[in-house]
Amino acid sequence: MQHPFLTDRSRGFLPSPVRDVWEASMQPGVISLAGGNPDLALASLDWMADASARLVRDRPHEVLQYGSGYGMTELREAIVELMAAEHIAADVDSIQVTAGSQMALDLVTKVLCEQGDTVLVEDPTYVGALGTFGGAGLRVEHVAMDANGLVPDALRERIRRLAAEGRQPRMLYAVPNFQNPKGVTLAPERRPEIVDICRQAGIPIIEDNPYGMLAFEPRTVPSLHELDPEHVVYLGTFSKVLAPGLRVGWAAAPTWMRRSLQLASESTVICASPYSQAIAAEFVTEQDFRAAIASAAAVYGERAHALCTALDEHLPAGSTLTKPEGGFFTWLTLPEGWTTDALLDAAIDEQVVFVPGAAFCAPGEGESELRLAYSFESPERLAEGAQRMGRAFARVAASRPN
Ligand code: PMP
Repeated sequence: MQHPFLTDRSRGFLPSPVRDVWEASMQPGVISLAGGNPDLALASLDWMADASARLVRDRPHEVLQYGSGYGMTELREAIVELMAAEHIAADVDSIQVTAGSQMALDLVTKVLCEQGDTVLVEDPTYVGALGTFGGAGLRVEHVAMDANGLVPDALRERIRRLAAEGRQPRMLYAVPNFQNPKGVTLAPERRPEIVDICRQAGIPIIEDNPYGMLAFEPRTVPSLHELDPEHVVYLGTFSKVLAPGLRVGWAAAPTWMRRSLQLASESTVICASPYSQAIAAEFVTEQDFRAAIASAAAVYGERAHALCTALDEHLPAGSTLTKPEGGFFTWLTLPEGWTTDALLDAAIDEQVVFVPGAAFCAPGEGESELRLAYSFESPERLAEGAQRMGRAFARVAASRPN
């Protein structure tokens, strides 16, 4: 029973499925394929320690004082440079700095959606977005993806069906690169089509891109934002390429949204931490950030390879595993009739954990799917984790009726 003082909306905030398996994953000896944490051992921690001390010593009245509601100019310029390194063009004036991209998503949701509105998402989608949308009282419609990302025909069809019910979606939320949770990337040729469909239907797009810089091989893929900067809000973050504890992210927003976004941000945090912002800015201006990110991406690539190749040897016949080309995650679809409930119990017994897929999917879907993260463990531990998963598959198979 919910306390009577609490709103109906507050019921919509969702617990994280990663936290659900947190306790199991923290047991000694357990290999966690659950949480998608970046590996801070790959970050320049000595440099960060020096920069932090130097900033407090040399610029205390800037970095420890309240700052601009939009964010520090030096950081907004640095963000444009960081995006350019991913071949994404953005305008400095479009950048709203936030405390992580999760906050940017929350602000965008506040300025675009009323309670009861409909929002389109990929199936499966980032569970943190589902929490934000749930807390805002939105109705969420999952749209099919395949190995090439969101399926344009499925999007068209869903918009048409909703229109027939008198429902106009207020936005499409998508993670086009190395998606969390599925690890897939929206094919370049689909991108203009998705943007066109949404433009014609009058639906703004929220393009969330935390992993785009962590490509295992160099690549150039157009961002949705560049294809139509007045229709697509871009969300970025330093969490995966520097450190999530800094809590520095941003939105690159259309002109018409900037003022509302800034006021919404001020009403939430007054300003994002100038201290963290200055460290993030220096990462871009003082460090060889391209090399730092490329070398971290190469390590994640080795880990993805280690997990996926080891798992391939153990998968039950008829399973499919996505082959990520960047980011932190792969997604496993088990054969018909398998459920992650039984598998998770067996996996925990074998001292390995993953996140069951249902939390990322439409209600009633995803029961036989799961997310596996390779970002945090060494290749050796990932190979061992895959072996343990193999033993868990065997236990479930043995207990299934023939
Ligand atoms: N979007 C996606 C797709 C993510 O995976 C995450 C982090 N797990 C976020 C947003 C939030 O990141 P931040 O730390 O910038 O708030």
